[in-house]
Amino acid sequence: MFLMEEFGNKIIEWYKIHKRDLPWRNTNNPYFIWLSEIILQQTRVDQGMSYYLKFIEEFPTVKELANAEDEKVLRLWQGLGYYSRARNLHFTAKLIVENYNGVFPADFQEIKKLKGVGEYTAAAIASFAFNLAHAVLDGNVFRVLSRIFGIDLPIDSTKGKKHFLELCNQLLDKKNPALFNQAIMEFGALQCVPKNPNCSSCFFIGNCTAFSKNKVFELPIKSKSLVRKNRYFNYLIITHQQNVMIKKRTENDIWQNLYDFPLIETESSTDFTELKQKIKNHDLLKNKSWTLEKVSPSFKHVLSHRDIYTSFFHIKMDEQPSINANYILCQVSELDNYGMPRVITRYLDFNLAEIN
Ligand code: SF4
Repeated sequence: MFLMEEFGNKIIEWYKIHKRDLPWRNTNNPYFIWLSEIILQQTRVDQGMSYYLKFIEEFPTVKELANAEDEKVLRLWQGLGYYSRARNLHFTAKLIVENYNGVFPADFQEIKKLKGVGEYTAAAIASFAFNLAHAVLDGNVFRVLSRIFGIDLPIDSTKGKKHFLELCNQLLDKKNPALFNQAIMEFGALQCVPKNPNCSSCFFIGNCTAFSKNKVFELPIKSKSLVRKNRYFNYLIITHQQNVMIKKRTENDIWQNLYDFPLIETESSTDFTELKQKIKNHDLLKNKSWTLEKVSPSFKHVLSHRDIYTSFFHIKMDEQPSINANYILCQVSELDNYGMPRVITRYLDFNLAEIN
């Protein structure tokens, strides 16, 4: 690992040797930089280049873009896709002329208010055009930082984004924010690329946590790629006459505020003898008289990050169950009035008759 300022010096050193000569890098005109950033939002550099050149030739100033016919702007944009970008571009050009007298705002917060400009684009314009100390955080930067510093927080989580933004702002060379931001993005675009990063000839090989721990291809992490988790739900369908016991899910967990049956969750798939013991000890059944009438097979229910294995145990009580604040004793015929998770309603669709 290295000191924070060493990182900035090193990445800028790399950039000076390897950077591509791109037209929007040879200017600090905020209008040109904004144009290039909007064009490159969902477009590769090689594809976006000709559009950028066409736009600055046709509309050399923000006023000329503002005064253009809608059709002309859309025609020039043709082939780039995501036409809302072109409409936002035109709208914002008019707004700059009307509200800022045609002068591009030079303040990060003001830039961020412009339509089509998010946190990243605002930081890019603020730093590239005005050399303001705002770190850019795009896909390239996430990848570079997660690998070099070995950060395994999901980059699409709030916690992850906050952590990366703080780190990025700490690393930012405050005297050269434009250069630093260009450098780290270019490093991610050319060297530390997603599929075949050029580790063997990398400047950072001695400082790279992912390389030393053999985790280059595991980072960065997205929450969607997190390991799936299994959960094992054993539902007790406890009935007495025409009533059944249900419970509102108030915990900070899946299906919050929906209703389900009394639940025994186990760490793993549990054998029947062990489970029967747990059922006997359940609050609602302990020292009561009841009969286990049916045990369903286990159903797999797939959620975005986990698989829920669910079984249902039909239990008939001979006596009125004691009322407990956590549970509701409702009529079986009224179950429909309670919102329940899909895994339960699907089961009831086929088995309601048996609990009635
Ligand atoms: S060593 Fe490989 S993974 Fe690490 S920064 Fe360099 S290119 Fe990226």
